[in-house]
Amino acid sequence: MPAFDLFEVREAETVSIIRFLDQIDDFSHRTTDLHEQLSKFVGDNACLKLVIDLRETKYLPSSVLGVLVQLRNQGCEVHLANASVDVAEVMQVTRLDTMIHVNKTEVGPWEKDAGDALARVPLAGYVLTCPECLHETMVDKHLLGKRAACSQCSDEFSVTAESIRKATHIYANCPSCATQLKLERDEVNVGISCPQCDSLIEVRVIV
Ligand SMILES: [Zn+2]
Ligand SMILES: [Zn+2]
Repeated sequence: MPAFDLFEVREAETVSIIRFLDQIDDFSHRTTDLHEQLSKFVGDNACLKLVIDLRETKYLPSSVLGVLVQLRNQGCEVHLANASVDVAEVMQVTRLDTMIHVNKTEVGPWEKDAGDALARVPLAGYVLTCPECLHETMVDKHLLGKRAACSQCSDEFSVTAESIRKATHIYANCPSCATQLKLERDEVNVGISCPQCDSLIEVRVIV
C-alpha cells in the first residue's frame, strides 16, 4: 500500500494542499487509516496549515469531520477550500466552523486537470504600508525579519510576521508580460487572468 492512498497531495509544505481520492462515503469504513495517513503527512511535512480542496467532494461524513477535528487538536489548522453550499451549511449549523476554517479563498485547478494553459507563479511579496508616510510599498517576501525601504519616502521599516499577516494585498509578476500585479489575498491559489496580457495564471503562496 502506498503511504497515502486516501488523498492526493499538491503541495507539502508548512501550508499543504490535498484532496481526497475516490468517494469519500467509503472513508467511513477507513477512519483509522485516514487519521493515520493525515497525521503522518502533517507530521512529516511540519505542516501547520492543511488546506483540503473539496471541489469534487459534495459532502463530508461525520467520521471524516471527526478526523479533521482531531488533526486540529494536534495543532494543525485545517481549512476547507471549495466547500459546497451544503458542506458550508453543515459546518455552520454544527458550529464546527469555529474549529475548522471554511475558506472563501478557493484552491485553483490541479496541474494535471488544468493542462498547459495555466502558468503557476510564486508570490513575489506583500503590499505593506509605510509607517512613516503611509504610502503602499511592495515588499519582497524574502525581507521578512529584515528592513525594507519605502518607495515613496525611503524611510526604512522592519518587516515583521505581523505586518505580513495584516497585509490585505500581495503582488506577483506575470510570467508572460512581466507586469507587476497587485492582488487581493483571495486571489491567491485561484486561476486569474492577467489584466495586461490576458494569460491565465495562478499565484501560489510558497512558504
Ligand atoms: Zn514612506
Ligand atoms: Zn501578463
